[in-house]
Amino acid sequence: MAREQTVAVVGAGLAGCLLATLLGRRGIPVTVYERRPDPRVAGHERGRSINLAISTRGLAALEEVGLREEALARALPMHGRMVHPLGGEQNFQSYSADGTRAINSISRAELNMALLEAAEATPGVTVRFGHRLTNVDAEKGRLTLETPDGVVTEDVDVVLAGDGAYSAARRMTEGVEPFTHTQDFLEHGYKELTIPPVDGEFALSPDALHIWPRGNAMMIALPNLDRSFTCTLFWPKADFDALDTPRKVREHFEARYPDVVGLMPDLADEFARNPVGSLVTVRTWPWVRSGAGATVALLGDAAHAIVPFYGQGANCAFEDCVEIDRCLDETGGDWRRALSIYQERRKPNTDAIAEMALDNFVEMRDRVASPVFRLTRAAQHA
Ligand code: FAD
Repeated sequence: MAREQTVAVVGAGLAGCLLATLLGRRGIPVTVYERRPDPRVAGHERGRSINLAISTRGLAALEEVGLREEALARALPMHGRMVHPLGGEQNFQSYSADGTRAINSISRAELNMALLEAAEATPGVTVRFGHRLTNVDAEKGRLTLETPDGVVTEDVDVVLAGDGAYSAARRMTEGVEPFTHTQDFLEHGYKELTIPPVDGEFALSPDALHIWPRGNAMMIALPNLDRSFTCTLFWPKADFDALDTPRKVREHFEARYPDVVGLMPDLADEFARNPVGSLVTVRTWPWVRSGAGATVALLGDAAHAIVPFYGQGANCAFEDCVEIDRCLDETGGDWRRALSIYQERRKPNTDAIAEMALDNFVEMRDRVASPVFRLTRAAQHA
């Protein structure tokens, strides 16, 4: 009888946890290696986006593991954009003609936790925290991982790398010909701020994704269940550096975001304290490499990190997992064939969404405030 294949997932992020759950349900034992400590013990990592917009694509994937309703119960629907022009009235632009369609604002940490718990509750799934991948040897079929107790190696047949935009697994499989890889960084970075509740209530309408389009810069805000909003500034990196005193921060917000500056009591502190994140588009090919010992496949941001302006990175990562599961079904569990079909099917879709995400930055920071754009949308919905 053929030996059972040893399957490793790298990264217990959104994609890694969903994929491990799907594989466990299929009866495939899988070990997930995550570099961070267990968030239930160590708390959540700072400096990553606090909330995410999950749309139909993501919800359909979560439904596969029975988490759709749980996710929706922890989410707030946003039925449109609330645009805050400088010097004008805020205006609501519905996401659908009949006003019923919404995207859902959800805490990234809570969503990750729900997925992690689903993975761990699935027979056959083991999660090892504090295991940072440092090497993948596809010829020997071996992973090298750093742990608090020293370096360990694991023999594997299949490696599914969901280790994010700066994937270690991707770096280690690069350089084998033929290979293409680009990482395009925007000149813009992002920083998160908070609008706390006012007298226990939302300070802005909770039913919308708020946008302050300001030409080359913008701010957005998504509602949280605790009735706060998380604001994200998308600014040229030099603009963050220029505001190097509390007074400059306050004066800038009074001039550029006058309708919300009064709702941000910790503005100057948060601005100084919170990090500036980078925005990268990763295009790489192939996503799958087979050596004599193991097949290594990339998924999620490791394969196709995109800028967040279409709110589709996590949704796409989830779709990768469902596609891998589907391909295993279609090939009767033949990993090499399944992963080969997976990458061929997903790549055109993720390339397309990467371009749409870049285009949407221009639309969000500029065109949503223009009268022409609003007229066009009104005509589409008529
Ligand atoms: P990640 O979520 O990054 O998970 C990777 C995991 O791998 C992490 O747990 C990490 O600790 C682990 N890891 C990394 N390196 C190693 C290693 N060497 N060894 C072991 N483990 C490792 N998407 C949306 O769909 N909607 C949104 O509204 C949205 N908003 C966003 C806003 C911002 C500001 C940003 C930056 C992104 C946003 N995204 C959004 C994109 C979304 O966050 C990502 O697409 C999504 O998190 C990708 O999931 P992933 O599992 O591939 O990677």
